[in-house]
Amino acid sequence: MPAFFMHGWHSFAYLLIMNLHSHDPYWLMKSGMVTTYPSLQQDLKTDVVVIGAGISGALTADALSRMGLGVTVVDRRHAGIGSTAASTAFLQYEIDTPLHRLSAMVGEHHALRSYELCREAIYKLQDICRHVQPAVDFHIRPSLQYASYKSHVPKLYKEYRTRKQYGFKVRWLEPEDIDRLYGFTAPGAILSSDGAEADAYLLTHHLLAGCNRRGHGIYNNTEITDIRYHKRGATLITNNNIKIETRIVVIACGYESLRNIPHKIAEVHSTYALVSEPIAQLNFWHRNSLIWETANPYLYFRITDKNRILIGGKDDPFYTPGLRDSRIKQKAKLLQEAFNKKLPDIPVRPDFSWAGAFAVTKDGLPYIGRLPGMPHTYFALGFGGNGITFSVIASQIIADLVRGKKNADAKIFGFNR
Ligand SMILES: Cc1cc2nc3c(=O)[nH]c(=O)nc-3n(C[C@H](O)[C@H](O)[C@H](O)COP(=O)(O)OP(=O)(O)OC[C@H]3O[C@@H](n4cnc5c(N)ncnc54)[C@H](O)[C@@H]3O)c2cc1C
Repeated sequence: MPAFFMHGWHSFAYLLIMNLHSHDPYWLMKSGMVTTYPSLQQDLKTDVVVIGAGISGALTADALSRMGLGVTVVDRRHAGIGSTAASTAFLQYEIDTPLHRLSAMVGEHHALRSYELCREAIYKLQDICRHVQPAVDFHIRPSLQYASYKSHVPKLYKEYRTRKQYGFKVRWLEPEDIDRLYGFTAPGAILSSDGAEADAYLLTHHLLAGCNRRGHGIYNNTEITDIRYHKRGATLITNNNIKIETRIVVIACGYESLRNIPHKIAEVHSTYALVSEPIAQLNFWHRNSLIWETANPYLYFRITDKNRILIGGKDDPFYTPGLRDSRIKQKAKLLQEAFNKKLPDIPVRPDFSWAGAFAVTKDGLPYIGRLPGMPHTYFALGFGGNGITFSVIASQIIADLVRGKKNADAKIFGFNR
């Protein structure tokens, strides 16, 4: 008999099937299905079930499988086609809350560690992209954050001083430096050395394929509709009533995890992106930096493969898929115009445009770890603008917690912070 029985998951799974993105996310169009997996058709027993086959689930499954645990990954859709397929994959240590402001919100130590962990996550991802089979393209890129208005300069400069003081590799750029290196005008900017870009969709697929080759089960079209806890683990029930016995549950369901959490931890908004047609130009700007600004919501852009320009932003503070999707064309035009205003000599013609949901938390930090009342269960919720670096942090913290090792950083991202 189960020691206790949870209904929370049950209602979550049925009620919250979100529309995570729409139209043509570039990486999904470029790589297609990559690998397909069957749905689960028979009961099984395993050490760990990872629910959700996006970048968070893939990284966590990879880490846990390398610890010698038997891992099963299930997804109600196809692997990688949740938010991960829509991601513009800026890999930055600068989270949406500036370091000096985060310090005031969560304390200096937690704020600094969050920034340091995100920076470490970039290099950890570099290592993972190199070693996964086949390797995934990964490029270190500087990150430029420019002041959108003159009035934003004092706060941005304060942020520069704060980061410099803590040893981050940053330079302050005056308007003439920005013009020389980037070809546009802005009243000031921080240039950070540590940033990167990668194809998160391919990385997710290649990590999962590696797990599968090592004997771990990956299942598409397999939705977890109920979790029944008992003393030594849990029984997970799928949409077609298959039972999975497991010792450990990892919930990596992205924004769809929200309904399973008893208190409100995030708001879901809508964001927009486009990728241009390839451009016959060799040099765009300083070391193909990732570029973003101080305005909120911010415009961001970078170069992606085949000399295409990726532009994102123009966020809306709501999650209403119908309304969001009706705006994609108009938002793509606005993104194109905003980019052209900055760099009129680079001819951007939208080739792919799409919209997606993303979650905003009160401090810009993710939620990772355990929730009271859900034993044997770990959440990997990389909410916030830096979802992918947060997914790396989640995989590391969860791996430590599962092996019973103390992780001093876990409390920074805990649900009771
Ligand atoms: C347009 C856009 C741009 C972005 N840009 C960036 C960026 O530049 N940099 C960055 O770091 N982050 C960015 N993000 C955020 C980043 O994409 C996400 O943080 C990340 O992809 C989340 O990955 P995930 O694995 O947690 O979630 P997902 O990829 O959504 O995976 C969760 C999976 O769980 C499955 N699932 C849900 N419920 C169940 C259930 N009951 N049973 C079985 N499976 C279930 C879903 O089907 C889904 O596949 C962006 C997001 C969007 C939409």
